[in-house]
Formats: sequence, structure tokens, C-alpha cells
Amino acid sequence: MVSMRHLLDLSLEEIEAALAEWGEPRFRTTQITQWALRHGVTDFEAMSNLPAPLRARLAEAFTLAPLPTLAERSADDGATTKVLLDLGAGAAVEAVRMDYDPDGDESPDRTTVCVSTQVGCAMGCSFCATGQQGFTRNLRPSEILAQVLHFTRERRVTNIVFMGMGEPLANYDATMRAIRWMVHPDGLDLRQRGITVSTVGLVRAIDRLAGEGLQVGLTISLHAPDDELRRSLIDTARGTTIEELVDAARRYIAQRGRRVTFAYALLDQVNDDPEQARALGRRIRGIQAHVNLIPYNPTAGIGLRRPSRERVRAFQRALQAEGINATVRIERGQEIAAACGQLRTDVMNQNAAPLGTAFVVIEP
Ligand code: SAH
Ligand code: SF4
Repeated sequence: MVSMRHLLDLSLEEIEAALAEWGEPRFRTTQITQWALRHGVTDFEAMSNLPAPLRARLAEAFTLAPLPTLAERSADDGATTKVLLDLGAGAAVEAVRMDYDPDGDESPDRTTVCVSTQVGCAMGCSFCATGQQGFTRNLRPSEILAQVLHFTRERRVTNIVFMGMGEPLANYDATMRAIRWMVHPDGLDLRQRGITVSTVGLVRAIDRLAGEGLQVGLTISLHAPDDELRRSLIDTARGTTIEELVDAARRYIAQRGRRVTFAYALLDQVNDDPEQARALGRRIRGIQAHVNLIPYNPTAGIGLRRPSRERVRAFQRALQAEGINATVRIERGQEIAAACGQLRTDVMNQNAAPLGTAFVVIEP
């Protein structure tokens, strides 16, 4: 079988150029991308306002095939759904949809999709199920978008968080290309502010992102108040200091005019002492930042524990006493191994699911 190029691996400019070469007018690009993204069609034949010869030509040159579903699980009365999508060659990637209803009324105001950017991850965080799998490969733009389209075919999605498997800024070009399609008016047309990129802390890539002219949110995963502890938790953090990350956050805030979030996975008796909260507070005080505390989701065989609710609250209060805005991430999807990296581990190993929580970001 000849493997065709997926249309959504191309940028808007590349699609325009391809169509110009075929002598097609520019408005065809708009029609095609609206079909492919807004309407999520998977077959050029369905693009009913295109002339038949163009549809045939597109189908010869490109594909719009979705990723086949390997497993899908729901929890929280259907408000959380996690899907495992087939990438071929034994690889799979997962995405989670969370309906989040901040007002508690009937209709959900916000639907967030958590996407993956890599198969596995090379960053080696000791507490992360994806990190334990090692790195297999980067996802292509079309494979990142396929995770969102899987859900937008069913209902409206308002927010995207890059908090699934992998390190988005280590797959920078594909991540940016996917983001451009997410926010483009002829693409998914999502609000730029509805998109959040989470990074383990790649300083140069953070600066690059700040220069993209987009209003996307940034989360930097900190997890520790001092470099020694941080390096013991994140294999690859050796070359980066917390000070450099806080400086990068400052530059992002200055350039984008947006607040930055620091993610902090709380590990019992490792980084959850109120004294550590105060130390963290002193380091980030004075910048427009917010701390999102994530009580650790136990993953198989690592020997770390989730702190008690009391310890989580004490840590949060200690941060707040330092003048830091801190929230605790809401727990979702407990019974479906919804924490990113866990469904894949579960299905691939045919194991019982470890308990987990999906990643819901509370808007700052
Ligand atoms: N690679 C990026 C984004 C994906 S991970 C990053 O690290 O930021 C998304 C978030 O989930 C990160 O903040 C990560 O530290 C956190 N996380 C990963 N495994 C976790 C676990 N078992 N328990 C709690 N948080 C976890
Ligand atoms: Fe990679 Fe993020 Fe997991 Fe660390 S927490 S191993 S950077 S996916």
C-alpha cells in the first residue's frame, strides 16, 4: 500500500500552494479546510461544494483518514471520556475529553480535550507513566489533530490542553502546526486563550513559543522548590535551573501579557511539606504566576504515594500564605485510568487499570 500524505500534516500555506499549482482558486482552500477541520469529514467525496474532478484529485494525492479507535472508556456519568487511538506499527496514543461545568448548571460550559504529542517521552520524570515507557516517536500534526477531531465530530470542544503523553515543546514544529490549525478561522476556530501548552521546562522552546504571536496559555512543570530535588524527580532537568525557568516565565508574561501556571505534582513525603511550599512561594513571588497542584496519580510499580487530603490542603494554604494563587486539580475519571499515559499502559499490558485522574486545569 502506498502511504499518502495526510492533508492535515500540511500548513495552510502549503495547501494553498498545492491548489494554486493545480490552477484552483484560493477560496477552495477555505472550503477544503473547513470540511476537514470544522466538519471533521474523513473522505474528500463528502466535500459536496467541490467539483467532482477536484475531489478525485485530492483523494489521489492526500488522505483525511482518522486514527482507528482501539479502546474508549467513560466515567463521571459520561463527563469524562478517554480514547486510545491506533497509530499503526503497534503504537497507540491517548486523548481525554472532560466536560467541565463551572456553574453547575445543566449544560457544560466548557469541554476540554487533553492531547498527546509523542508516543512515550524522553524526559524521564520518575512519577509519570509516559516517562516510564521511554520515547518511541514524535506525533505528526495530523495525529495531534486527529485526537481533537475524534471528539469534535461528536460535540463542540472549547479548550485544548497539551497535557497528554509526551513533551509538546520537544516536538515543537508539529505542535505549532497543530495549534495553528486549532485557532485558524478556517480550521477549528478555537480561542487562542482556550489552548494551554504544558512543558517540563525547555527554556529555549518557551522563548520561541513566546515569540509566535499567539495568546496560548503556558504551564511549566516545576514539581520542586529546589534544583537538587527537581533533578532527582526529572532525569533530564540537570541542565536547567528553577531560576532559569522562572526567568523564562517572566519573559513569557512580559511578551504575551498572559499569566503563567506552574504545575506541581504532589508526592507524599517527597515534595509536599509546608516548608517546601514556603520555599517555592519565595522563588515565584512577585510574578504573575499561579500554581496548579496535582495530587500524584499512582502508576504501577514506582513506589511513590499520593499525599492525604490534609497534606494537600496544608501545602496549598502555605503557598497562599506566601501570597501565591494556588489551586488543586479536580479529580476526574478515577475508574478509567484517565491519567494520561495510563490507559495505554493498561490496554497494552492487558493489566488491571491503576487508579488515576484525568488532567483538568482550573482556569486561573
Ligand atoms: N510533558 C509535559 C506535558 C504532559 S504531562 C509536562 O510534563 O508538563 C502533564 C502534567 O501531568 C505535567 O505537569 C506532569 O508533571 C503531570 N503528571 C505526569 N504524571 C503524573 C502523575 N502520575 N501524577 C500527577 N501528575 C502527573
Ligand atoms: Fe514527559 Fe511530561 Fe511525563 Fe515528564 S511528565 S515524562 S515531560 S510526559
